[in-house]
Order: sequence, then structure tokens, then C-alpha cells
Amino acid sequence: MAVEAALTGHLVLSTAHSTDAAHTIARLITLGVNAHLAASALSGIVSARLIRRLCERCRRPYEAGADVVKQLGTPVTGHLYEVVGCDHCRQTGYLGRIGIFELATLDPSLQEIIQSDASVPQIQTALSKMDIQTLWKDGLSKVLAGETTVDELMRVTRDG
Ligand SMILES: [Zn+2]
Repeated sequence: MAVEAALTGHLVLSTAHSTDAAHTIARLITLGVNAHLAASALSGIVSARLIRRLCERCRRPYEAGADVVKQLGTPVTGHLYEVVGCDHCRQTGYLGRIGIFELATLDPSLQEIIQSDASVPQIQTALSKMDIQTLWKDGLSKVLAGETTVDELMRVTRDG
């Protein structure tokens, strides 16, 4: 019913329990939505996760070593921050949470891939070539801004 409404021009917003955009597309198809209709009906997929925010009162700057740079897959200019713990954050080093978001909008090339009954890895590969904001990229920007830690990014973006 939601797919029919979308195909007739209605804006349909829905939620799905899924790890990322590629899995959301696969989920629609396993729910019985025809791949051609799914590709036509979908405009975009937003994925969201909560990530723990570093306590600004006690976080400690450090220079990223080669291992961290390799883990992040990007050069790091400036400091990263690590967990310490203080009375303000009850010795956890974290205080509150922030959202990280992935936004995948469907373009004709992605629609074509979905219609060809592509596997989840094939869809993930197509999405990675599209220069979309991924959970990883958004989380990475928050690590580089000192809002969270490398460990927290790894924990939250790990599949499953
Ligand atoms: Zn603290």
C-alpha cells in the first residue's frame, strides 16, 4: 500500500529496522515488493545512529598515530580526543549522545542496479561510488571535530 501511494505521487515516510541504506532496499524486496516498483517508489533513505558524545570537561587531546590514521583511512591534521572521566560525566568520559546520519538519494544508475536484483554488497558498492554522506563519513567528521572517539565510531558503525 505504501509503495502504491508513493508511485501515485504521495510523499510516504516510513521506518525500517535495518543496518544501512543497502540493507533497507534489500529488506523492501524480501518483504515482497517488486524490485522495479521499489526502485521507482523510493526517493531516498536516511539512516541514523546515536553515538556517545565526549565529555568536554575531561576529554584529552592526543596525536593520532599511524595505526589510527590507517583505521580511519584519512589523514588527521590536529588532535583527536580520548576518554578520561571526571565527576561531571560520572567517570565515563562521555556525556550525552549525538546523531550521525547517512543520506542516500536514488538516482537513475542506482535504480537500474536495484531493478537488476542486485545483492546487498552490490548495492553497497554502488552507494559508495555515489559520494553520499554515509554513517561512517558523518561519524568521522565528529571524531575529527573532537565530539566523539575513534572507538565509539568503530562500535557504532560496525555491521550488525
Ligand atoms: Zn568528564
